[in-house]
Amino acid sequence: MKSEEVTRILENAIRIGKGVIRYGSVASYIPELAKADKNKLGICLYTIDGNQFETGNTEDRFTIQSISKVMALCLALETFGAEFVFDHVGVEPSGEAFNSLVELDNRSNRPFNPMINSGAIAVASFIEPKVSFEEMLKLARCFCQDDGIVLDEKVYHSEMSNVARNRAIAYLLESKGVIGGNVEEALDFYVKMCSLSVTAESLASLGLLLANDGVDPSGKRLLDSDTVRVVKTIMLTCGMYDGSGEFAVRVGIPSKSGVGGGLLSVVDGKMGIGIYGPALDEKGNSIAGRKILQFLSSQMKLHIFAKKD
Ligand code: GLN
Repeated sequence: MKSEEVTRILENAIRIGKGVIRYGSVASYIPELAKADKNKLGICLYTIDGNQFETGNTEDRFTIQSISKVMALCLALETFGAEFVFDHVGVEPSGEAFNSLVELDNRSNRPFNPMINSGAIAVASFIEPKVSFEEMLKLARCFCQDDGIVLDEKVYHSEMSNVARNRAIAYLLESKGVIGGNVEEALDFYVKMCSLSVTAESLASLGLLLANDGVDPSGKRLLDSDTVRVVKTIMLTCGMYDGSGEFAVRVGIPSKSGVGGGLLSVVDGKMGIGIYGPALDEKGNSIAGRKILQFLSSQMKLHIFAKKD
């Protein structure tokens, strides 16, 4: 596809995305997130052959929130191995909201998957005793090719002051024997990793790393091929919470959303896409981001099962 064509498609995508922003709202259960400007929108697309396309607010910083679950899972898989991780956390879509604890209490003794809060808090509890938050921050900067990533203290404190639900999840995990160590430390690590400040550009770089089998643009392997395959599969089946099935049918690109308005997408073997659009739909996914990805998928034939011509 020619560059001018991609640029035109992105311009149309922004226009289409802007058209649905009014139907969404910014997250408010973490008060600091409610301050975001819901009209912001940026798309950033980095291809494996080195092209970069950007439009809109691609350099605005916002907190990564649930997209950090992808990096934490990568780290846990590489540190402890898939057997250990999936002995404690499942790989099935939960069909419930990201912050639900009903299915954990009633239907299972371990979290359904690592992309929802219960699964990610469990993953954080494995990582936390072995990896300091500073090391996690370094890793995020490296995966995202972005030295500007820092801990957003305001968002971190705002979430820690409103953490009752995640604390309840963490103690339920302890009661089920999933968390063995210090629950409060695990919870703190989880909230800190959610409070890393990124841009649409950082997310596109992370997407590119995963699209390129864990190899960064300089040719250095940062992640094992098996880790990347597993993570992309779980993003496809569980990355958009209880909207994952519909998203897989309509868009068909492994993606992960965060309530800060970020969206990370991986077009395997082709490109990474990062989007910022803080107006969310009722499931907590960027409303404009979803629409944009659907448009890009159809215009650029990016669906995982798109007919090859
Ligand atoms: N830190 C947020 C929470 O735990 C992350 C949720 C999200 O991005 N969906 O509620």
